Amino acid sequence: MPVSAGSPPGTIQGLGSGFSWKDGILHCREVSLEGMAREFGTPLYIYDSEGIQARIREFRTAFQGVGFLLAYSVKANGNLAVLNRVGRAGAGADIVSGGELHRAISAGIPPERIVFAGVGKTVPEMEAALEAGIYAFHVESEGELKLLEEVASRHGVQAPVGIRVNPDVESPTPHEYTRTGHAASKFGIPVAKALELYRSAPDYPHIRFRGIDVHIGSQIVKVEPYLAALETVLSMVDRLADEGVELEYLDLGGGFGVGYSGEPGLPLEELATRVIPPLTSRGLKLILEPGRSVVGHAGVLLIRVLYRKESGGKTFVITDGGMTELLRPSHYGGWHRIVPVQLRPDARHRTVDIVGPVCESGDFLARNRELPLPEPGDLLAVGTAGAYGFTMASNYNARLRPAEILVEGGAPLLVRHREKVEELIRGESIPSYTRDSGDSAT
Ligand SMILES: *Cc1c(COP(=O)(O)O)cnc(C)c1O
Repeated sequence: MPVSAGSPPGTIQGLGSGFSWKDGILHCREVSLEGMAREFGTPLYIYDSEGIQARIREFRTAFQGVGFLLAYSVKANGNLAVLNRVGRAGAGADIVSGGELHRAISAGIPPERIVFAGVGKTVPEMEAALEAGIYAFHVESEGELKLLEEVASRHGVQAPVGIRVNPDVESPTPHEYTRTGHAASKFGIPVAKALELYRSAPDYPHIRFRGIDVHIGSQIVKVEPYLAALETVLSMVDRLADEGVELEYLDLGGGFGVGYSGEPGLPLEELATRVIPPLTSRGLKLILEPGRSVVGHAGVLLIRVLYRKESGGKTFVITDGGMTELLRPSHYGGWHRIVPVQLRPDARHRTVDIVGPVCESGDFLARNRELPLPEPGDLLAVGTAGAYGFTMASNYNARLRPAEILVEGGAPLLVRHREKVEELIRGESIPSYTRDSGDSAT
């Protein structure tokens, strides 16, 4: 069976292989989801530590023929314990903000394994990353390069840089919001301009051009767009080498697709076979920045059914989780498998909408989905929720963000407590003048 990114063959299609029913109850490894709901409440994010480690191992095995850094994309799931798990598995981090830098460093990821992307880096973010000693800044505009030169000069250091190139490839991602590699996207620098910047190295004494970077989008399941981007970037590397600009690494970005409904993800081995030879022959090290394909299948969102109602010919299943916990369905039409935690062989199947409690019509987790009809009080698991789940959770409607559990060594470890109401108003204050200038209510 070929290894594909994010698609270890699980027993339940659309859930990672760490999740299975035992005696009719859904488990993460040896730990019952029913038990975790009782102990920690719902909605609850549950991550499978072993699954995360196994994915990183698959990447490292596939790319062992070349100098390789897996820079895990922190924005997919930035929980400290998850990042620490990623770091212990030998990976680094791809960050897009000073906040993510703080998370990665706090989780124990060595700074020399951190790369920093993003179109809007600020001076304080540059300073923090220079002080930390990260591996490279992925610069996305000439203005950013100039500012970084200034900041590095002020600090008396050289900033390691890879230019993020816009290779102008159309990546066939499922939603326009996840495409980043075409010319009209805000990401990266066009090829000709990027070449010009590398050639102007003497104008930037505090910049050290270390590598070159592309990231073409997300949820891509075919190798062709990567090969097209690779070809563009390699021809740049060769031209620069001819002109005496030697680079040390090539970063092909992330975006490896996973099978949300059980279909295969991007075939990693096929990609490795095509990518490794041209890099080794040039003595280039490879960086990849996967996020979703490392943690996606390793997580579920556990929710409980509150009510059921019929309206306009539809059946609504109202749960305690919705768009505030998992935004993907309403934000970009993301599709997630939803399965019952307790198997009921006698349950009638019905087509239902699974919706949350938020006051928005766009608050749904699934629409027109056929399921064994759940009863109020039943638990449901939303599959492949390990990536872009908690990190996109919000306090909209003053909802409390869910707790997070890492299942490791057969135990459910609480790695983030459920938010408390006091935390909702932390940092806010009522200006003193309003206390005595209001109209009396009586
Ligand atoms: C989001 C992002 C990634 C990761 O994308 P996935 O689809 O989660 O693999 C990698 N690199 C950059 C620059 C990103 O912005």
